[in-house]
Amino acid sequence: MKPAPFEYHAPASAEEAVQLLAELADGAKLIAGGQSLVPLLALRLASFEHLIDLRKVSGLRGIEDRAGSLPDSVGSEGAGSGGGGFGESVWIGSGTTEAAIGRSPLAASKVPLLARATPLIGHFQIRNRGTIGGSLAHADAAAEYPAVALALDAVIETLSPRGRRAIPAGEFFTGIWSTALEPDELLTGVTFRSPGGRAGFAVEEFARRPGDFAVAGAAVAIELDAAAGGGADGRDARVRRCAIGLFGLGPTPLRASAAEAVVVGGAAGEMGTDAFARGIGQAAMADLDSVPSDLHGPASYRKRVGAAVVTAAWRRAINEAVGGAVGYLHSETIDEEAARG
Ligand SMILES: Cc1cc2nc3c(=O)[nH]c(=O)nc-3n(C[C@H](O)[C@H](O)[C@H](O)COP(=O)(O)OP(=O)(O)OC[C@H]3O[C@@H](n4cnc5c(N)ncnc54)[C@H](O)[C@@H]3O)c2cc1C
Repeated sequence: MKPAPFEYHAPASAEEAVQLLAELADGAKLIAGGQSLVPLLALRLASFEHLIDLRKVSGLRGIEDRAGSLPDSVGSEGAGSGGGGFGESVWIGSGTTEAAIGRSPLAASKVPLLARATPLIGHFQIRNRGTIGGSLAHADAAAEYPAVALALDAVIETLSPRGRRAIPAGEFFTGIWSTALEPDELLTGVTFRSPGGRAGFAVEEFARRPGDFAVAGAAVAIELDAAAGGGADGRDARVRRCAIGLFGLGPTPLRASAAEAVVVGGAAGEMGTDAFARGIGQAAMADLDSVPSDLHGPASYRKRVGAAVVTAAWRRAINEAVGGAVGYLHSETIDEEAARG
């Protein structure tokens, strides 16, 4: 099928795009990479009289080191368990493609969780066109970037006729495929805090086929208390901040707050055992009350897969934080974990 007819607009600036959105109101939709919107249009699950293409809008692309800067109107406390100031940060324009993020040495070194999540998104053809702004605005509960944004306390920047806003990721995902964006608001960029000191990051997911959306996934960020960690490795350190972002396990991306609370302040050297990792996997599932049941299986199956991916991601992240080693677990290992129940 082909999309219903629409009028095409190609504004050159963010201000022009926002003006068009306000003027054309309900009949208009922004389009970035088109990797989520075009299938909906082509299948006629959605139709709009006007499409506003963001590809020619200047200033929406790029990955920049913004050491010490913080978006206006956002306080310095991160929303994550254990808190922490913003310090160094990396700004990514909303029109930056997933492929550009995957290739970026700056993203790899300063926002490793985001970089490690990127190859798990669809296929390279999709990542070549799909954008970080589109992924966050589309807000699929099974997508990787929204969960990473939650785990890193990212700040989402917007522009509307009323001016600019900076929205903490924790307040951005409001329901099934819905966000805090107003109808006339453009997502312009995202700022990720970049942790200093000893830290570990890992993303694990289980999908039925490579490139599919995950049945369940987890993004784990652990930061150790540098002052207590002192020596050549992090075994003596305490966990200063822990964030576990979950995807595919509810109507929105989620944080596993109860599991995070178990580890913040604890001795990192005692958290690398298999038993501890499995305990975190179970704790992360304990307070989930809206796990979907669908063609992949009932909620109970998804929870088992969820516990397995959290366990696997926890192992890799804590190993990296404590010892600097990044272990790798494949889906087969996650299968075994899920079977173990
Ligand atoms: C086969 C296939 C497999 C996929 N697998 C995965 C996967 O495993 N994981 C995953 O995360 N994603 C996956 N995707 C989706 C992909 O990541 C999309 O690129 C992404 O979700 C949307 O980005 P986009 O730039 O293409 O947005 P578009 O499709 O252009 O837009 C999506 C929505 O966001 C809005 N929007 C876009 N940009 C802005 C902006 N700057 N401000 C406000 N609103 C905006 C649009 O109006 C629209 O509502 C897959 C897609 C396909 C087709």
